[in-house]
Amino acid sequence: MNVLVINCGSSSLKYQLFNMKDESVLAKGLVERIGIEGSKLTHEGPTGGKEKIEVPMKDHKEALGHVLEAITHAEYGAIQSLDEINAIGHRVVHAGEKFSGSVVITDAVMAALEECIELAPLHNPPNIMGVSAMQELLPGVPNVGVFDTAFHQTMPQSSYVYALPYEYYERDHVRRYGFHGTSHRYVSQRTAEILDKNIEDLKIITCHLGNGASLAAIDGGKSIDTSMGFTPLEGLVMGTRCGDIDPQIVTYIMGKEDLTLDEMNNIMNKKSGVLGISGVSSDFRDIEDAAKEGNERAVLALDIYHLNVRKYIAAYASVLGGVDAIVFTAGLGENGIDSRKEICKNLEFMGAVLDPEKNKVRGKETVVSTDDSRVKIMVVPTNEELMIARDTLELVK
Ligand code: ADP
Repeated sequence: MNVLVINCGSSSLKYQLFNMKDESVLAKGLVERIGIEGSKLTHEGPTGGKEKIEVPMKDHKEALGHVLEAITHAEYGAIQSLDEINAIGHRVVHAGEKFSGSVVITDAVMAALEECIELAPLHNPPNIMGVSAMQELLPGVPNVGVFDTAFHQTMPQSSYVYALPYEYYERDHVRRYGFHGTSHRYVSQRTAEILDKNIEDLKIITCHLGNGASLAAIDGGKSIDTSMGFTPLEGLVMGTRCGDIDPQIVTYIMGKEDLTLDEMNNIMNKKSGVLGISGVSSDFRDIEDAAKEGNERAVLALDIYHLNVRKYIAAYASVLGGVDAIVFTAGLGENGIDSRKEICKNLEFMGAVLDPEKNKVRGKETVVSTDDSRVKIMVVPTNEELMIARDTLELVK
């Protein structure tokens, strides 16, 4: 059984073809600049060599057509014919309150996802386009939707209702949804497997620290709180996003600088975070380099970032009423040796003690706390694509 996993962004898309017999990746790749001059497909087949295919691709359907050609190419393809693709799994960002798990996509599901566009105007339209394109390109092959929001649908109302007049929740669906759900789910499941424990018995705090970043409090395998909210802007300080700020700042700056809604959204989403504070970059490697060279704003950006994650960890320990494991994942979580050290400073009081030697690790599943640390601190690389492929297999088999 082969499953093709697709993740469509507005002008790019990523794909991976899995052989689910052994969960091996047969091929993977990336299309960039869809609908823009200079469209490019970078494909990696079973031999590991990279093929670059540069042809105009005016939309996602054309791009996916080239992906299917690459996957079945006589030289660098991974399968001989499209019949060998048994199902397609799609990453879909927002399913609102409509789905608490992955589903086979039917007309009714498509209609529900269309309704969620107002909640994720930038993300859902390309995700939906990807599904429609595959329905046309491979008719009869089942498509499965795996939603970023679904895992967090188990949160209690006390975690997801905002202190606004209640009608904004009832009428306008303004509530915390949470994102990165597929990553938090994968990482928490792996944590239980690595610790050889039943996930039902564990209280886990997962820290997904990439360009976007969020924490989740996971009790017995269920998300009960998460730091991203109505949109992926809330919560942690991120690469370019501000995370939690006093909401009154928004109206203050808009009034003072005479900014439009779009301009203010752009500042909060694209110009803030560690980029905004440091003025250096949104990439932690650049900021760490600048900090080492004595750039004070880079040092400040890192200090603010680490303090912010640490505060959330301590808060979630209280939400969970204890914690068995704190788990780091995504770009910075998996690779940021210094960041993990700084974040875990001061967590000793709650029984989480980092081992500085074990912590010297990048991108590898491992326990980085001391042997006698009551709380396990771990690094678990995320694999959202594999989670999507597993859900897809489960639903279509
Ligand atoms: P995305 O949210 O785009 O999927 P990633 O999970 O790939 O992001 O994370 C990207 C971030 O991870 C980058 O901003 C980078 O700063 C950070 N990162 C990656 N490798 C390292 C490293 N070796 N040291 C520190 N930070 C790193």
